[in-house]
Amino acid sequence: MSCIISNKFQVRLERCDIAACEAMCCYDGAYLEPDDEVRIQAAMANYPEFFRQVPENPVVSENWRGFGAGRKTARRPWRYRRVIPAHFTSTRCVFAEDNGYCSLESAARAHGLHPWTFKPTACFLFPMPGNDSRKGPIPPGKDPHDLGPDYPGYATIVDCGKHRPEGRPWREVLREELEVIETPIDHYFAMWEASIDRQATSA
Ligand code: SF4
Repeated sequence: MSCIISNKFQVRLERCDIAACEAMCCYDGAYLEPDDEVRIQAAMANYPEFFRQVPENPVVSENWRGFGAGRKTARRPWRYRRVIPAHFTSTRCVFAEDNGYCSLESAARAHGLHPWTFKPTACFLFPMPGNDSRKGPIPPGKDPHDLGPDYPGYATIVDCGKHRPEGRPWREVLREELEVIETPIDHYFAMWEASIDRQATSA
């Protein structure tokens, strides 16, 4: 049976509890924009203590089910305590810490930076699609990664992207994400680069 959703449909969300969801949205890693790779490399070069678990080549080239070749974060095997969707693999992004937090975000927070200074765009905008985030999260029945019974979707299936009738309007839940669309993360990264340059000059 097809699911008909009107254009006026408003997705309602709940923030996920990472201890419960185990960062399931990170199971396959994340596809990157060119600037993302620059920001990741900068974080690893300046704060290596946060990336001891990360392999030497944490970014790889892949073409997910023919959607198009791209650079993405690599994955590592991971055993989930919870039941995960049958079409997800038992893996997680190499930047995910054992507790599910993102090491790129941990490095930024520990240094008093905007928490997403080094994080891939697709990750900090999620569950809004990176290429059309102003429209908000994907309504049920419209998941672009719903490929049928073999792979019935992604963003509308994980805890933080799933529509919940009892949840809050997505614009409330994703207020910080919407702010970073207005003030792009490049702004925060440039501020950080300038501070690093100043430290190097005064050393
Ligand atoms: S980069 Fe961070 S947020 Fe993105 S998939 Fe990897 S662990 Fe998750």
